[in-house]
Amino acid sequence: MEDCIFCKIVKGDIPSEKVYEDDKVYAFKDLNPEAPIHVLIIPKMHIKSTNEISEENSSSISNLFISVAKIAKILNIDESGYRVVNNCGKQGGQTVEHLHFHMLGGRDLTWPPG
Ligand code: 5GP
Ligand code: ZN
Repeated sequence: MEDCIFCKIVKGDIPSEKVYEDDKVYAFKDLNPEAPIHVLIIPKMHIKSTNEISEENSSSISNLFISVAKIAKILNIDESGYRVVNNCGKQGGQTVEHLHFHMLGGRDLTWPPG
């Protein structure tokens, strides 16, 4: 996807602060953090949203969820706790149309988020 900012981040065309990478997954610090730790975890392949998750791309998705525990350990929030959030579509608050999961931590997080 030529005009997708997260595809450009994966390619290195837009700089990012990398936290974790493997062959299918990339994780980097959010530009506008909502918590002391705010990382975006994305599949390297362009998947638009959770609506586009399917059998065909399920290995990317399973890799992504396996990476969550690894990333939490890297960030040293595996013991203190964290939240993993996905925003899907307009009312869900999705602003970037490349599937991503927010990992938030480093402070007490309120629930419900509002
Ligand atoms: P959404 O609102 O789609 O769930 O989340 C998109 C997130 O991407 C936002 O938290 C926003 O701060 C982050 N973001 C948007 N553009 C960039 C960018 O170029 N670099 C980084 N690191 N984060 C970005
Ligand atoms: Zn993309």
